[in-house]
Amino acid sequence: MLNGIVAGQEPTLPYTPSLDLASMDKQADPCVNFYEYSCGGWKKNNPIPADQTSWSVYGKLYQDNLQFLRGILEHAAQTSGQRDEVTRQIGDFYAACMDEAEVEKQGLAPIRDYLEAVGNLKSTKELAPLVAKLQMVYGRSVLFTGGSTQDPDDAEKIIAELDQGGLGLPDRDYYTKEDAKSKETRERYVQHVQKVFELTGENAGTAKKDAETVMRMETALAKASLTRVERRDPYKLKHKMKMAELDTLAPNFDWTAYYSTAKYPGFEILNVGAPEFFKDVNRQLKDEPLDHWKTYLRFHVVDAASPYLSAPFVNENFEFYRKYLRGAKEQQPRWKRCVSYTDRQLGEALGQVFVAKVFSPELKASTLDMVRRIEDAMAIRIQQLDWMSPETKQQALQKLHGIRNKIGYPDKWRDYSSVTISRIDFAGNMGRSSSFEHHREINKIGKPLDRGEWEMSPPTVNAYYDPQMNDINFPAGVLQPPLYDAKEDAAPNYGDTGGTIGHELTHGFDDEGSQYDANGNLKNWWTKEDREKFDARTKCVEDQYGKYVVVDDIHINSKLTLGEDVADLGGEILAYMAWQDATKGQTLEPRDGLTPEQRFFVGFAQWACENERPEELRVRAATDPHSPAEYRINGVVVNMPEFAKAFACKAGQPMTKPLEKVCKVW
Ligand SMILES: [Zn+2]
Repeated sequence: MLNGIVAGQEPTLPYTPSLDLASMDKQADPCVNFYEYSCGGWKKNNPIPADQTSWSVYGKLYQDNLQFLRGILEHAAQTSGQRDEVTRQIGDFYAACMDEAEVEKQGLAPIRDYLEAVGNLKSTKELAPLVAKLQMVYGRSVLFTGGSTQDPDDAEKIIAELDQGGLGLPDRDYYTKEDAKSKETRERYVQHVQKVFELTGENAGTAKKDAETVMRMETALAKASLTRVERRDPYKLKHKMKMAELDTLAPNFDWTAYYSTAKYPGFEILNVGAPEFFKDVNRQLKDEPLDHWKTYLRFHVVDAASPYLSAPFVNENFEFYRKYLRGAKEQQPRWKRCVSYTDRQLGEALGQVFVAKVFSPELKASTLDMVRRIEDAMAIRIQQLDWMSPETKQQALQKLHGIRNKIGYPDKWRDYSSVTISRIDFAGNMGRSSSFEHHREINKIGKPLDRGEWEMSPPTVNAYYDPQMNDINFPAGVLQPPLYDAKEDAAPNYGDTGGTIGHELTHGFDDEGSQYDANGNLKNWWTKEDREKFDARTKCVEDQYGKYVVVDDIHINSKLTLGEDVADLGGEILAYMAWQDATKGQTLEPRDGLTPEQRFFVGFAQWACENERPEELRVRAATDPHSPAEYRINGVVVNMPEFAKAFACKAGQPMTKPLEKVCKVW
C-alpha cells in the first residue's frame, strides 16, 4: 500500500548510541553532580539551535524524526504517478502548508466567515451555537472546553464533559501572580492582543481598548479556574450532573443550542470539571455587554488561526508565544512546521509510513519483552514492601496485572477518509482536520470504550500512562536510539528505556494514579493505614524536590511535579531490578573504563541531557508537571544506595543521602 511513497528513496534516522562517551564530562565528579558527569559533554556539544526554546536528547530525536518524515512527505506530495488515499491525504496536506504564495494570497480570508458570524451576533443568547462552532476549528479552547471523557465511576462508559479554558496565556496563574515578571508578561500579552486586533484592520486606539477588554474577561475566567495542583486531585474534577443541573449552574448560556450545534449524540449525564468556573462564565454573560463578547471571540478566532495564516499573523504569533514567552531566537523553517502540523492533524496516516520504516517486528518483540520484565520486577517489589499490608498488596497486584501494554503503534489505524484535504487550502485543512478530531471525541459518547485508542502519534518521542484506561503507551518514536538501542547491551538500555517503562508503570501508583483501580475507576483500594503510610512516603519526595531551584529564585512546585518525581524514582528502581534479573548468571565486563553498574546509571542519565532557555524554564515552572532534567537524574540517584555503591560515593557527598533520609515509595 505504501510502495508509492518510498520508491527510489530510503530515508534513515541518524544513529547515536544509548551510551555516548562523548556526551559525558569525565572531569566532573559523579558523586558531586551526576547529571553533569553524564551530560556535561552533551550540553557543551549541543547549543540550543536558534529556532528552539530548549534542546534535549528527546527534542533532538523528534527533530530527526521530522527530517525523516519530511522525506516521506515530499515524496507523498508529488502528484506524478499513482497515490493511494493515505498518501494523497498526507501529501496534499503538506503541499498546501508549503504553498506559501497561496497562503499569503489568502490573507485573512480563511477565517472571514467566522469573524462575520461574530460580528453578526444579535444577543448574548446567540453566543452558545457560535461558541460550539468556534471550538471545532483549530482545536482552541474558546470560553471553555467541551468534549467527552470516561465516566470516573465506570471507566467503560463515555460521557460528555465540560471544563475550564478560554485563556490566551499558558496558565491561570499568569493572570493572578503579583511578581514583577508576571506583571511584565501581562503587559506584553495585552500588547500582543492589541497587535492582533490591529492586523485585522482596527486602529491603534480601538485595538488597545479591545485588548484591555480581553485581558479583563480572561482574568475573571482565570480567577475562577482551578490551579494545576488542585487539578491533580481527581475528586476535585468529578462533578457529574444532569442537563437540568447544568442549566441551573449556568442558566445564561443556551446549552441546548450549544449541544445541538456541535451535533452531540443524546446523553443524560455529563461531568463538569470546574463548576465554579461555569458560575463565573454565567456571571460574565449577564455583566458583560454583547460588544465585549464580540471582542473576546474575535481575538480568539484570529489568535487560534494565526499560525496558519499569512506572514504578519504567523510572525506576531511567533514574536509573543515562542520568542518573548519561551525564548526562541528564530522562527522554525516552514518545512518543519508543516511536517509537525501533518503529524499533529493526520498522525495515524503519516505514522503508518513511519512505523513501516523504523519499527520492525523484532524491535516490537524486544521492547515488549523489556516491558514484561519491568512488570515482573514491579510484582516482586510490591510483594517485598515492608510498609504495605497484604490486603493492599493484593489490590496493587491486581491493578498491575490489569495494565495494558501498547507498544509502537495502534492495532487499528484511524480512518481520516472523511476529512476533505485540499491541495490549496492550508488553513481550511487545519480547520477540517480539527473538526474531525472534535467530532470523533464527541461521537464516543454512549458508545463502548475503545481500549485500543492512542493519544500520541507513532513518531512522537514521548510515552504516557492513562489512569482511566490503565494502560501504558510507547510510540515507535520513543523506542529508537539513543533511547532504545538494539545495538547496545542491556545496561544502558535498561537504565534508559527500562527506566521510562518503569516510570509509566509507576504512574499507576503515584499520588494521582493510585486513586484509580485496575479497571480505571476512581475507587479507593487502599486500607486507611496504608494510604497514610503512602502519603508520608510521597511527602518525602515532595519535600526533597521543593528545595530545588528551576531558574532565578523560582523553586520547583513539587506538589505539581509529585507524580512525575515519584514515577522517576520508582521507574529507575524497577529498571535496576529488571536489569539484574535479565543478566543473571552472565559475566558482565567493564567497558570504556565503566563498570556494568556505572554504565546502567550513565545510560539512565543520558536520556535527560538538555539545554534550556531561561524563558522556557519559567513557562515550565508554571505549567510542566515534570521537574527540570538535572533533578530528574540527581533527585533519583540520591535515593538509590545502588548508585552510591556503583560510584563508590562517600557519606557527606552531594549525591549520597544518609540511608535513613532516602525517600522510598515503591
Ligand atoms: Zn510521567
